[in-house]
Amino acid sequence: MFPFDNSYARLPERFHASVYPEAVSGPVLIKFNEALAKNLSLDLDPKDTNRLAAIFAGNVLPPGAEPLAMAYAGHQFGNFVPQLGDGRAILLGEVVDVAGVRRDIQLKGAGPTPFSRRGDGRAALGPVLREYIISEAFAALGIPATRALAAVLSGEPVYREQPVPGAVFTRVAASHVRVGTFQYFAAREDQEAIRILADYVIDRHYPDLKQEPEPYLALLQRVSDRQAALIARWLSIGFIHGVMNTDNMTISGESIDFGPCAFLDEYDPMKVFSSIDRQGRYAYRNQPGIGQWNIARLAECLLPLLDADEEKAVGKANTVLKSFGETFQTHWIAAFRRKLGLATDETGDAELVQDLLTAMHEGRADFTLTFRRLTDLAGAEEGPKAVAAEAAFTEGFMPWEKAEQWLPRWRARLTREPERHDAASLMRSVNPAIIPRNHRIEQVIRAAMEGDLKPFERLLEALAEPYADRAEFDEYREAPLDEQKVRLTFCGT
Ligand code: AMP
Ligand code: MG
Ligand code: MG
Repeated sequence: MFPFDNSYARLPERFHASVYPEAVSGPVLIKFNEALAKNLSLDLDPKDTNRLAAIFAGNVLPPGAEPLAMAYAGHQFGNFVPQLGDGRAILLGEVVDVAGVRRDIQLKGAGPTPFSRRGDGRAALGPVLREYIISEAFAALGIPATRALAAVLSGEPVYREQPVPGAVFTRVAASHVRVGTFQYFAAREDQEAIRILADYVIDRHYPDLKQEPEPYLALLQRVSDRQAALIARWLSIGFIHGVMNTDNMTISGESIDFGPCAFLDEYDPMKVFSSIDRQGRYAYRNQPGIGQWNIARLAECLLPLLDADEEKAVGKANTVLKSFGETFQTHWIAAFRRKLGLATDETGDAELVQDLLTAMHEGRADFTLTFRRLTDLAGAEEGPKAVAAEAAFTEGFMPWEKAEQWLPRWRARLTREPERHDAASLMRSVNPAIIPRNHRIEQVIRAAMEGDLKPFERLLEALAEPYADRAEFDEYREAPLDEQKVRLTFCGT
C-alpha cells in the first residue's frame, strides 16, 4: 500500500523513540491530496474515504510502517532547550517519490510520544487546516516547503482554552532533520552521533558533497545557502514564519511548521503576528538575521567535524557565517528585480526596490496587491487601460504621491531592459495574485468549526494557481477590510 523504504529507523536507537499512534474514536476524512499520493506511489483508493480516514488518523498502520518520534533539541526564542523532540508527531516511514526523492510521511497529532512533556500529543482542527492551506499554497507558489497529504477529524475534542475539534495532519517532507537535531547530540557531547547524522543528511540530501575535499564544511555551507535563499523567497511574498526556532529550521531547506505564520497585508517591515513573539524577534525584516543566527548554532554543533584544530574550525565556520548575508542579499535583490520586471542588473536597482518598499510602508500599501497591480500596469496597453491600471496602483497608497513619484523612475529603468524583454510576463510569474491571507484562513476555520468545509475547498482551489488571473477567484485577491484584519495569530497547537 505504501512502498516504505525506511532509513531513519535504521539510525542508532538514541536518534528516536519507537511509538505507535493512538487510535481515535471517530475518524472522518477532511481532505486527501490525491496528486501528492500519486507522486509518492501510494496505492490508495481515493473513493474509500473510511479507509483513508482510518489510515491518516493513525488507527490503521500501513504495512511496513515503523512509527517513531524523532529526538531533537532547539533554541526557542533564543533559549536553549536540550530536549524537545516529536511531542505530537509520529514518523510512519519514508517512501521514494517518482522523482527519486526520499520523503518522510509523518502524522501530526496522532497521540503522545516519549517527547510529549506536558503536551497531549494532539492537534486541533484550526491549526491543521492552516498548515494544510499554507503547505499547498507554498507548493503552488514554487517555494520549498513540506507538503500536506491528508487531514482527518479525530472525532474527539482536544482541550485548549476550551474544547475544540481534534484533527490529525499528515505531513510529507524531504526529511524532518532540523538544526535542533544536531543540537540534541551536541548538548550531550555525542560526537559519534553528530558524525552519523551529518553523514546521513549528506547521503540523503546532498550526495554531491561527498566529492568535496571537506564534506562537513560543504554541508554547513549548503545548508546556509539554502536557508538564505529560502528566506529571500519568504520576504519576496510577504511571508512571516513566526517561530524561527532552531527546531523549526530544516537541513533540507524546506519551510516547515506553519504555526502562527502569516502573510503581510499592509507592508510593515517590523510586522509581527504571533501572539507569543512579544519582542518581535521573528518580525518580517528580522528573518534573515535570525536565519544566520540559527546557522551559527548549527556551525557550533559541526565544529569538531570541521577541523581537529579548534581555532581553524572556528575560522572555517566563520567564513560560512559571513557568506550568509551576502548570499541572502543576492537572492533578495534577484527576487525583487523580477518583481519589478527587471531581467538585467543595475547598481541602482536595490535603491529602486527600497524606495518602493519605503513608499509602501509610509503609504500602508498592501504588499501583494501593490506588486500585482504593478504587474497589471506593466501589461496594460497605452490608453484608458493604462490610466486605469496606474490609478489602481497609486490608489493602494495613502497618500499616493510617493507612489506616483516612484513610477517614472521604474518606467525609465524598464526602458534600459533589452527590447524583446517581456516585463509583464516575468512579473506575472513571480507576483502572486492570490496568497493565503490571514482573514481568509480564519474564515475557513470558522466555517469548518461549524461543519462547513466548502470555504476550505474553495480557498485551496484559489491557491492552486496563485499567479493566474481567474475572475471566479477575484474575491481572494482582496485585502481585508479593517474589521476583517487579523492582528494576532496563535500557536494554537
Ligand atoms: P512547535 O512550536 O510546533 O515547533 O513545537 C515545539 C515543541 O513542542 C515540539 O517538541 C513539539 O513536539 C512540542 N509540542 C507542541 N504541541 C504539542 C502537543 N500538543 N503535545 C505534545 N507536544 C507538543
Ligand atoms: Mg516545530
Ligand atoms: Mg508547530
